[in-house]
Amino acid sequence: MAAAPLSPALVAHLPTGMLAGGHWGPAAGGRTFEVADPATGQVLFDVADASADDGRRALDSASGAAAAWRAVAPRERSELLRAVYERIVARADAFASLITAECGKPLAEARAEVLYGADFLRWYAEQAVRTDGLVRTAPAGTNRQHVHRRPVGPALLVTPWNFPIAMATRKIGPALAAGCTVVIKPAHATPLTTMLVAEVIRSELADRGLPAGVVNVVPTTSAGDVVGPLLADERLRKLSFTGSTAVGSSLLRQAADQVLNCSMELGGNAPFVVFADADLDAALEGATVAKLRNAGQSCVAANRFLVHDSLAREFARRLADRFARLRVGRGWDDGVDVGPLIDARAVEKVDALVSDATDHGAQVLTGGSAPDGPGSFYTPTVLAGVDAGQRVVREEIFGPVAPVVAFADDDEAIELANDTEYGLAAYAYTTSLDRALRASDEIEAGMIGINRGMVSDASAPFGGVKQSGLGREGGEAGLEEYLETVYVAL
Ligand code: NAD
Repeated sequence: MAAAPLSPALVAHLPTGMLAGGHWGPAAGGRTFEVADPATGQVLFDVADASADDGRRALDSASGAAAAWRAVAPRERSELLRAVYERIVARADAFASLITAECGKPLAEARAEVLYGADFLRWYAEQAVRTDGLVRTAPAGTNRQHVHRRPVGPALLVTPWNFPIAMATRKIGPALAAGCTVVIKPAHATPLTTMLVAEVIRSELADRGLPAGVVNVVPTTSAGDVVGPLLADERLRKLSFTGSTAVGSSLLRQAADQVLNCSMELGGNAPFVVFADADLDAALEGATVAKLRNAGQSCVAANRFLVHDSLAREFARRLADRFARLRVGRGWDDGVDVGPLIDARAVEKVDALVSDATDHGAQVLTGGSAPDGPGSFYTPTVLAGVDAGQRVVREEIFGPVAPVVAFADDDEAIELANDTEYGLAAYAYTTSLDRALRASDEIEAGMIGINRGMVSDASAPFGGVKQSGLGREGGEAGLEEYLETVYVAL
C-alpha cells in the first residue's frame, strides 16, 4: 500500500520532540507515541509523549520568557508574525501534504486550510500594532481616567485534531500579537502540523534574536495529566481551549480554582435551514460545502438539514444524487472529494447514529455504511424522513451524514433550529430579506451564514453561544482574549 507522499526535505526537518526553551528534545524517560495516517492506518512518525513534568518544563520556559516578550515592541512582534505567515504560505504544499497525511482530508482542502490558518498570522500581525487605550476626564472633573491594555500573561493553548494548522494559528497569532508567551498542547492524533508551525516560529525568533521560550509545545497522550497541573499552576494566566463541550466544561471546572481567564471554543450542532422561498440550487451547493468539509468533522459542519415541507423530498433526493457522485478515498489521490474519518472509533460512532436513525424509521437515500478495506472511511450519507428527536439530530455527528427534517412554517423552523444545547454556527437559505433578518435575529448561534455554506474568516469573530463556548477567535475580538484592561486614575 502506498504511504502518504511526504517530501524528503519535509521529513528531514520535521520536529518530533517537545519544544521548551527554544529546543526540541525528547520527553522525560524518552517516551513516544505513534501518529498514524487515517487513510491507511500506517504509522507516520513516533512523537515525544510529554509527561506532567515535561508540561511544567514548558511552562517554566513560557513563564521565563514572559517579561522579555511583552517588552518587545509591538512592531517587532508584528514583523515576526508577518514573516512566519510568509514562510508558511511559501511552503503551503508541504504543510498541506502533512495535514493530509496525519488528518486525512483531501490535499486541496488541506491547502485551503493552510491559507486560512496562515491568514490568522497575517491578520494578527496587522492587529499587533493597534491595541487601543483610553484617556478621558472623570465625569466629576476631579481627575483623568487612563485605561490601557496589557498582555494577560503565559497562556496554555489546547487544540483539537480536525484543523491542525488553523486551530493552532487562531490562538498563537493573537497570543503573540498581544505579548503573551504560550504552551501549546496539540491533539495527539495530529500534532505534527502544529509542531511544524512552532518550528517556523522558533527559527524566526532565533534569527531575530528574540526570546527563545515564547512558543513551547507538549505533544502527549496523557492530556489530563499534563493539563491538570498546569491549570493549578499560578504562573499560568490564560487557558484557550478548542474541543468538545464535555472536555471544555471539565477544564472550566478545574480552571475555576485559580479563577483562570478562559476562552472556550466547543462543540456545535449547526442547523441548515432551507426556507420555502430558497434558491434550491444554491442551497444544495451550500449544503454540500457546509456538510462535507473535512468529511463532516468540523465544529461548524451542518448537522441538521431543516427543510420546508414543500421542498424536503426534492432537497433530500438531489443532495443524495450529489453525495453519490463524490469520490471517497485517500486525500492525496487525484479527484478525491471526501477523505477518511480520523479513526475506527469515529466510524463506529457515525455508523451507530445512522443505525439508530434507520431503526426509528429514517430512510437511507445514499451511503449508510463504511466501505470494506483499510482506513477509516464512511460513505457520504443522506437520511430522509428523520424525526427531530432522533439522536442523529440531537448529537454532533462529526461525519459525512446529512439528516433531513421537514418543517411546516417559519416559526417551527426557528424553534427546531434553537432546540439544542449548542449554538455555534447556523445556515439559512431564503430569497426574502425579512426571513434573512429574522433568522439572523432569532437563531441562537454565534455565527450565521445567510445563503452561504461557509462562515470562517480570520478577520471575523468566530465562536459560539450556549454550550458552544465562551469568547471569540479571529477579528478584533480575538486579540481581546489575550489582553487585560488596567484603569489608572490620575
Ligand atoms: P476533544 O475535546 O476530545 O479534545 C480536544 C483537546 O483536548 C485535545 O488536545 C485533547 O487531547 C484535549 N483533551 C482531551 N481530554 C482532556 C482532558 N481530560 N484534559 C485536558 N485536555 C484534554 O475534542 P476533539 O475530538 O479533538 O475535537 C472535536 C471536538 O472539537 C468537536 O466537539 C468539535 O465540535 C470541537 N471543535 C470546536 C471548534 C470551535 O471552534 N468551536 C473547532 C474545532 C473543533
